[in-house]
Amino acid sequence: MRERREYSVLGLVQGVGFRPFVHRLATKLALVGDVRNAAGRVEINVEGEPDQLDAFGRALRDEAPPASRVEHVSQRIASPTDARDFRIRESDDDASADVFVLPDLATCDDCRRELFDPADRRFGYAFSSCTYCGPRLTIVDDVPYDRARTAMARFEMCGACRREYEDVGDRRFHAEPIACAECGPRLTLRDRAWAEVASRDPIFDAATRLFAGEIGAIKGLGGYHLACVATSDTAVATLRARKHRDDKPFAVMVADVAAAAAQCHVSPAEEALLVSSRAPIVLLRRKEGSTFAPRVAPGNPNVGVVLAYTPLHHALLAACGRTPLVMTSGNLSDEPIAHDDEDAASRLAELCDFFLVHDRPIRVRCDDSVTRVVAGAELPIRRSRGYAPQPITLRSRAAAPILAAGPQLKATFALARGPYAFISHHIGDLDELATVRAYATAIQHYERMLRLRPELIVHDLHPDYASTRYALTRAHEQGLPVIGVQHHHAHVASCLADNEHDGPVLGVAFDGTGYGHDGAIWGGELLLGDARAVQRFAHLRYVGMPGGDRAIVEPRRMAIAYLLDSGLDPAVIWPDLGREGELLAQVARRPSLSPLTSSVGRLYDAVAAILGVRERVTFEGQAAMELEWLAASAANEELPAYPFDLERDASGTWVLDMRRCIRAIVAERAHREHASISLRFHLTIVEAIRAVVAEARREHGIDATALSGGVFANALLLERAVRTLSLDGVTVLRHRRVCPNDGGIALGQLAVAMAQGS
Ligand code: ZN
Ligand code: ZN
Ligand code: FE
Repeated sequence: MRERREYSVLGLVQGVGFRPFVHRLATKLALVGDVRNAAGRVEINVEGEPDQLDAFGRALRDEAPPASRVEHVSQRIASPTDARDFRIRESDDDASADVFVLPDLATCDDCRRELFDPADRRFGYAFSSCTYCGPRLTIVDDVPYDRARTAMARFEMCGACRREYEDVGDRRFHAEPIACAECGPRLTLRDRAWAEVASRDPIFDAATRLFAGEIGAIKGLGGYHLACVATSDTAVATLRARKHRDDKPFAVMVADVAAAAAQCHVSPAEEALLVSSRAPIVLLRRKEGSTFAPRVAPGNPNVGVVLAYTPLHHALLAACGRTPLVMTSGNLSDEPIAHDDEDAASRLAELCDFFLVHDRPIRVRCDDSVTRVVAGAELPIRRSRGYAPQPITLRSRAAAPILAAGPQLKATFALARGPYAFISHHIGDLDELATVRAYATAIQHYERMLRLRPELIVHDLHPDYASTRYALTRAHEQGLPVIGVQHHHAHVASCLADNEHDGPVLGVAFDGTGYGHDGAIWGGELLLGDARAVQRFAHLRYVGMPGGDRAIVEPRRMAIAYLLDSGLDPAVIWPDLGREGELLAQVARRPSLSPLTSSVGRLYDAVAAILGVRERVTFEGQAAMELEWLAASAANEELPAYPFDLERDASGTWVLDMRRCIRAIVAERAHREHASISLRFHLTIVEAIRAVVAEARREHGIDATALSGGVFANALLLERAVRTLSLDGVTVLRHRRVCPNDGGIALGQLAVAMAQGS
């Protein structure tokens, strides 16, 4: 007896070959009917024998294409029609509930094979893609996902491409961005004045110029990169000078895992990240004898490595004889990455010697993602291309759409619909007007793409964050309610959401800066509670930041503040400081010039300066990072922690007092190895957490902890904390899917708003 079933499949099912898969499956099982993309779901009608229909239903989930993710399948029985074959129908324009857009997918193995196969018609073609790979987020104008609504709309398919597009048996069946040299995007080589340079083979000529030591501006998926040969110290030095970037590490692109393993240690977990379709920059430990120029990542035992992830990159690296290339964002430091040709032509002209560009527009500016493996699991550091806008599923549901405006630094925003949190790509620090504009534009684009109008806006409590101002202005204009969430509460809620854990926990939020309820600069917070509410259970003892924000750039100022607080004369460290030292000491004693902070980031700065590791920084977190490398080089792994005190203040809040630790470090610095001192300092932070966790357990019976905040991007600290606390029988939550730093704040804001709403 023939039957008709109607399926609706929800999840990441558009732009990943889902309809062709359904077509092949239905044809194999001799079923008739049709399949079409609706907004955020695929709708399928199939008719045939019940046995075959059952097999179809099972295979829908079990055999779905690798890049897809089926969230939910609903099924309905209906009466048979007179359908005679199985068809793929055009997308439904009606935009309703659940819309997903896929992240960009790194070039798949088949496409890469074709690229290097002289017999293939796409041999050497830089914009090849298929159902399983290629650009997605960065070319999408609107949904449903169809070629006409992408940056590919301007390229009319040639006969050969169209045949593949229409052939059910082909890997490119209904692959929206497909193209070939006949009909698709083209490469051009341009000089720094943007004039086209005649070239029969732009990739080969670009490689030649890179080898001559030149800097190239190369248009990629989500923006321009600046590239140079990574093994040439002169080329790397030139790039640093032009980009005004002194020490911040550059990422290096290599051809494949073998090329990465020739330079760095690559564990199986790291390899899995490198070769994943997300293709992030993975922080790897450099091997002895690595040929990367030292200036790629000065003084850094690690280096960020990314595999070629577009055919253009594969072809370029092949033309360079597999020589690794520095691939860093095309911008002057602190500006947003250039993605629009006109903008690139003007902003990058001074930075590069030539441009390698193409005529496919970039719709969403999207930096490379950065990630690392810590204690056996992924710890994302910058979640952007390849990750965004893949949603994170939450345990609660948003009753109405919510926008979380995010933080000021490392900004992302997030949108919630139902149980999904869509976290944006990395926008950057909202200090420059250009970045704030990019932020507002991206919010608009995501709302259109996701067919979502926020009915509630969540923001940080800091009144001067550009994201807070955006939230308040917009809420005022549109008459929307707002919720302000304390920065470190958002960090803790983010870690809970990341782990799908409801709490209560002792949330450990250690970072550089966050606006506290008492107006002080928080950043060493141990908060008891859950996503809905927390109480400040303990915090690092307040010290002044001499000269306010200047103390962030000059760790020595924090050292002086800590030395004075510990009853020591800064002259024990800097005997020649003279007048400057007196002035700084005066500033440190004046509350109006030295705002109070409980920031663990600033404590790291102070220790780094006391040990002579760094007295001035050129990028945020630099001193702490160098202290981590120093600790990692320590020979003796089993050292005791330094002493510290944990006492209640008048209000009953626990205060972590590190003055004895500072005095011990000062006493040892002249005769002990600084690597061991740094390691002992890290262990002291772990012991301090452990002491507070013990109090929380004793007083409240809470034996779970969530570690969040930028300080936990420190692999050594996170590893030690996880190990030590787990041995105590404490459940330790750490980040795995979103960033511990402020890149994860927007998710936390959403989680708090949703918890307070329910
Ligand atoms: Zn492919
Ligand atoms: Zn073609
Ligand atoms: Fe933070």
